[in-house]
Amino acid sequence: MTDTLHTAEQYEYKAEMKQLLHLIVHSLYTHPEVFVRELISNASDALNKARFRQLTDKTMLDVDAPLEVRITLDSAAHTVTIEDTGIGMTKDDLVGKLGTVASSGTLEFINSLKAQGGTLDGNMIGQFGVGFYAVFMVADDVTVETRHANADSVGLRWKSDGQGSFTIEEIEKPTRGTRISFTLKESAYEFSEEYRFKSIIQKYSNFVEFPILIGKPGEAGEKANNIRALWQMPKESVTADDANEFYKFLSNDYQNPLGYTHLSIEGSVNFKALVFIPETAPMRPLTFDQDKSLHLYTNKVLIEENCKQLLPDYLRFARGVVDTDDLPLNVSREITQTSPQMTKINNVITGKILSLLQDWAANDADKYAKFYKAFGSQFKIGVNSDYTNREKIVQLLRFDSTTTEKGTLVSLKDYAGRMKPEQKEIYYLAGEHRETMLNNPNLEYFRKHDIEVLLLTDPVDIIVVPSIPEFEGKKVQSIDKADLSANESSEEKEPSMTDSVLLALFKDVLAEKVEDVVPSKRLVDSAVTLVVGKEGLDVQMERMMKMLDKDFQGGRKLLEVNMEHPLIKNLARLQLADAGNPALRQYILHLYEGALLIEGNMPSPALFVRRMTEIMTDATK
Ligand code: ADP
Ligand code: MG
Repeated sequence: MTDTLHTAEQYEYKAEMKQLLHLIVHSLYTHPEVFVRELISNASDALNKARFRQLTDKTMLDVDAPLEVRITLDSAAHTVTIEDTGIGMTKDDLVGKLGTVASSGTLEFINSLKAQGGTLDGNMIGQFGVGFYAVFMVADDVTVETRHANADSVGLRWKSDGQGSFTIEEIEKPTRGTRISFTLKESAYEFSEEYRFKSIIQKYSNFVEFPILIGKPGEAGEKANNIRALWQMPKESVTADDANEFYKFLSNDYQNPLGYTHLSIEGSVNFKALVFIPETAPMRPLTFDQDKSLHLYTNKVLIEENCKQLLPDYLRFARGVVDTDDLPLNVSREITQTSPQMTKINNVITGKILSLLQDWAANDADKYAKFYKAFGSQFKIGVNSDYTNREKIVQLLRFDSTTTEKGTLVSLKDYAGRMKPEQKEIYYLAGEHRETMLNNPNLEYFRKHDIEVLLLTDPVDIIVVPSIPEFEGKKVQSIDKADLSANESSEEKEPSMTDSVLLALFKDVLAEKVEDVVPSKRLVDSAVTLVVGKEGLDVQMERMMKMLDKDFQGGRKLLEVNMEHPLIKNLARLQLADAGNPALRQYILHLYEGALLIEGNMPSPALFVRRMTEIMTDATK
């Protein structure tokens, strides 16, 4: 039976894991020392889990074992061993957590590395949930020996050379926890020197909440860190450097945060917190980090990582810790989900983050712009979800505009502040790119009358802005739907007889396609444009619906015709000469489809071009 016990089973890495390992092993890289932080951070995670379990489970293996990390360095043999008394791993953990990458970020990571031309920045590995594999920057073969805290667990040895596969076998291991050992590659010999190793962990080791002991083989080891729960310290004694390093340790980010707030709250709720705003969003395009949040401690014991109840969805870009004595020490995750204390903490933190952002917006425009660029899309959603703070969030919104330079954003307050006395509404136009939007014929009227229009270029704006009915008593209105007579002091004039006859022909040709055909007040340089009438959604909303549902049929639009345009006048003249001229119908259809083209809704480019060719052939006869 010892035979089966000691036979190592071999497992193949999944395809993307192989690609990742190939990259790590064969790339040039900077910051190989990052492996130290990654392995110690894993040990620290495992120790936190063991400490949490100790509170409720007295049957766990080695329940009284001291919680610590031991590092043994042999500079003659160039070996490194990092051992913890943490939660340990089961066989399922070794296969499913260590051996495979659960994080969907891996493939993106690989692609982003390839895009960088193959030079691997070791600093970035941890961000993608594959920190352990940083060790293959400095070692060819790695051994992990582990035993889980479950009373009935067995000792296990995992080995890999970072190529296509790993092996797992059962071993004798009497104690709980994980031991990782490897021989350094020649290029990485420096990492078995104690002074070098210590200098690497110095930066963040004081944030590890457990003793880290370093020594040579056979020695007891010396404590290398001075444990400090930074958030428990008085605000004045925490330097920005300490706070920044703590943030990096906590978040796996390699950059300093944009800013932070340190809270010590006493009253109807009691807690201490350090909350950071990162400078850039993690490299996972288009996904908001809804799973991330602040870490919850009670009495310095980590209860829950990324505790969602601590932040509303739209602020989940913030990172940090909250420590409260108001919850029982053996609090379960179910309690954190329903406790009124948690709601109070969430409200206080939300208020503090909003104050921090207000402060930046008022006093440090550059900083606020950076924040808005990184997290604006996520933050805006607060308008729709946080009714208590809605006013504040609306004040913090920023938009591109027709009157500003590219890249300069304006607030609704800026806009309202420079409105002309006769202007009653705040106008916006939604679209994809500033440049194409600036050529939209529907803007001609606003340009002519020198009226500012906000340009909504972020798809999220289409959800957010229409839900703001008014700002400072002014209606917030899409220019597609704008009632322009509100701005027009001159009398509306009746269309002339010839105009009416031409409009009737337009209606006849486009019968089923448009809601109506009307003379335009907004066009200056263009002949026709489509606007939203009684039936329709605005253009951008319609495009979004079409993205969600391919068969979505938008409502019909109003076609506005610029009666002053030379082309329209020519058409009226042709009609007067020969009302039955078949070319007229072609021209009208073509004008209509041109307007569709500008909206991005052209049904058949081939037909459009064929008709254009016929018209040009006729014109050049
Ligand atoms: P992450 O820490 O972001 O999850 P890693 O690649 O660093 O990614 O680690 C992968 C997983 O391996 C961890 O989530 C954990 O389950 C397991 N693991 C790694 N090191 C240890 C350790 N020392 N003790 C227990 N589990 C560990
Ligand atoms: Mg890790």
